[in-house]
Amino acid sequence: MDLQPILDGISAKIRPHLSDGRVADYIPALARVEREQFGMAIVTCEGQTAQTGAAETLFSIQSISKVFTLTMALGKIGNNLWHRVGREPSGSAFNSIMQLETEHGIPRNPLINAGAIVVTDVILSNRSLISENGIGEPGYDAVQEILDFVRLTAHDPSIAIDREVAESEAAHGFRNASLANFMKSFGNLENPVERSLRVYFHQCAIAMNCEQLARAGLFLAADGRDPISGKKVVSAPRARRINAIMLTCGHYDASGDFAFKVGLPGKSGVGGGILCIVPDVAAIAVWSPGLNKNGNSHAGTLALEMLAKETGWSIF
Ligand code: GLU
Repeated sequence: MDLQPILDGISAKIRPHLSDGRVADYIPALARVEREQFGMAIVTCEGQTAQTGAAETLFSIQSISKVFTLTMALGKIGNNLWHRVGREPSGSAFNSIMQLETEHGIPRNPLINAGAIVVTDVILSNRSLISENGIGEPGYDAVQEILDFVRLTAHDPSIAIDREVAESEAAHGFRNASLANFMKSFGNLENPVERSLRVYFHQCAIAMNCEQLARAGLFLAADGRDPISGKKVVSAPRARRINAIMLTCGHYDASGDFAFKVGLPGKSGVGGGILCIVPDVAAIAVWSPGLNKNGNSHAGTLALEMLAKETGWSIF
């Protein structure tokens, strides 16, 4: 299938929709991003690539980082992770605290903020990268390990953290701090709250473009093995399960709607990016900063809906 004309067609059709939606404004560093931007990139398991619009413009991946940290935490403690975080859709906003009380500090799933903070805590407790003199700040080691993992899967060592976004997240992260403290009170965080939060804020602030993000997610489309380098990242059953969680939980309280409209595992971030997996076929990244009422990219969702329709890639 020739993907380039399909992407070019979508890019033209999406233009009138770029002024819909609102740019995330909970931190100044994101509120400044110009709304009317759009980029999309596809990498297939056979190594074919196609891209359109601002596919090389860096943006804040935000919650899309949760897919990579989930993969890492499963690699470290395997199914024991499921004692500390569930795998049910929340039906609530990304930063909701409500269910944590009834569920005794066990977050609903790893793709909402509370769940991702627990995942970060697991990475911190089981980090494989320890500063040489042994007295390095543990949070720093974990941030570096997450960044290294993303660079490895994307095959791009230039990927970096936007320090301004990370500092902004920390300065305004009151809700995340309350989620973390709440979980700590139930004994579901092993590390000091500030340390887990610090790592979480830095992973949210990783800056990537659509090309890099699609490449980084490709192992999830190919049974856990990078189809281009041949390197195994996770086992096939694990890749399938990560995809299942993306499908059911990747768009917060609009996960059902995304499955209905697009029919693919996907994870959104409030920076306006979405990583989408077509099992056995391709990974797709789309970015447009205007968000719908659920905090998911408005034009990005629409573009994926068009793509799924034209390619017949829905898994259903
Ligand atoms: N940094 C954001 C937060 O924790 C991430 C939310 C998102 O991308 O959905 O509030």
